[in-house]
Amino acid sequence: MGASTGERGDHYWMPFTDNRRFRREPRMVVSAHDGYFVTDDGREVFDGMSTLWCTNAGHCRPLIVERIAKQAATLDFASSFSMGHPTAFSLAERIAGLAPDGFDQVFFTNSGSEAVDTALKIALAFHRLRGEGGRCRFVGRERGYHGVNFAGLSVSGLPANRKAFATALLPHVDHLRHTQELDRSAFSRGQPELGAELADELENRIIARNDGSTIAAVIVEPVSGAGGVLIPPRGYLRRLREICTRHGIVLIFDEVICGFGRLGTPFAAQHFDVMPDLITFAKAVTSGAAPLGGVLVRREIHDTFMQASPAGIEFFHGYTYSGHPLACAAGHGALDTYEQEDLFARGADLAPSFEDGLHAFRDGPNVIDCRNLGLIGAIELAPRPGAPGARATEAATRAWDLGAFVRPIGDALAFCPPMSTSREQLDRLFGIVREALKTVA
Ligand code: PLP
Repeated sequence: MGASTGERGDHYWMPFTDNRRFRREPRMVVSAHDGYFVTDDGREVFDGMSTLWCTNAGHCRPLIVERIAKQAATLDFASSFSMGHPTAFSLAERIAGLAPDGFDQVFFTNSGSEAVDTALKIALAFHRLRGEGGRCRFVGRERGYHGVNFAGLSVSGLPANRKAFATALLPHVDHLRHTQELDRSAFSRGQPELGAELADELENRIIARNDGSTIAAVIVEPVSGAGGVLIPPRGYLRRLREICTRHGIVLIFDEVICGFGRLGTPFAAQHFDVMPDLITFAKAVTSGAAPLGGVLVRREIHDTFMQASPAGIEFFHGYTYSGHPLACAAGHGALDTYEQEDLFARGADLAPSFEDGLHAFRDGPNVIDCRNLGLIGAIELAPRPGAPGARATEAATRAWDLGAFVRPIGDALAFCPPMSTSREQLDRLFGIVREALKTVA
């Protein structure tokens, strides 16, 4: 492990980090390539998390690097407010081409958090344009993560993220129960068989209390990531879709993690064959190489904006860097790489080995669940009495020292390897985590 943060000094307040610990025990990465980080003491660490569910094609991939460099030398920046540049238009076209039928409009943001807030605003404004401005409520889900901006945080369901800001969160937000049921679905391979009926509480509890006509949107991650990798029970998402349709509610799939091949298809909506009304994306759209996010919008919703808005700007929303040329160039490079290396299909091919490897932890020390879908999964450890989360944190720290990066989330260890991962790399990743777990009491 590196000795210090070096010449950078101690002026950087790091996000979602135990800064005091980091200063004592810095973990510095100085370069990366393919599936590996290189640390400041020259070690290669396999990136078993695609960093933060981002680098689906691996790191520093040549097509992405080249596209960014060329764009930087050609047009470094042009705003997308009432002017345009070709890289954003052509990327929107490519993303719409990957999306399910009918999603033919893309609104660019710079992050997943911004994508979520944008989608929630689109839902509100859409209803208003249709004369249903009374729809003011949002529904999220416990253990959901929709970023850190105020609207996204309001629909998120992670108490640690919410508690300091509780006084300022949006009113009129309800949360569905999360779908993790270890008592009846632990060690499910792929989607749990039981639990579709958990979706019914949208109708039986939330709509029954507020009336569907007050609800603007329901937002869920098809597979919850940051809440600990929760795989939806079979039939659950379809039921949510049916209920939203019955009550005229916009259904948003937050695909910031699932999008761009994580489940073997471009988007999770295609994997589950359930179509929402809006899809948020970010992260792997550039394979993490530049900040970019966005919202895929169904044609009917976009048409409503174009037809029902008074003359002038149809949607008073956007970010200075929406559609930034360098980020869009990175997006093109990532899509080129996914295409040329057939990475979505390769991820799907690797998924059975990933499943077997994860479920081999079943008999490991303190393991109470293994779960997976596509190339995302987790093993869950029993909490150490009086110290929840300690086991997973210690195991992840040990794994880093042994040469693999996995992410502790509560008492779970999350895995989300790049789709370019080989079987040998996968075996080594699991081997390191097995060694790490042995050292955790
Ligand atoms: N939505 C989901 C499902 C996410 O997993 C994340 C980040 O992990 C976000 C939104 C927020 O994205 P960002 O950190 O780019 O703002």
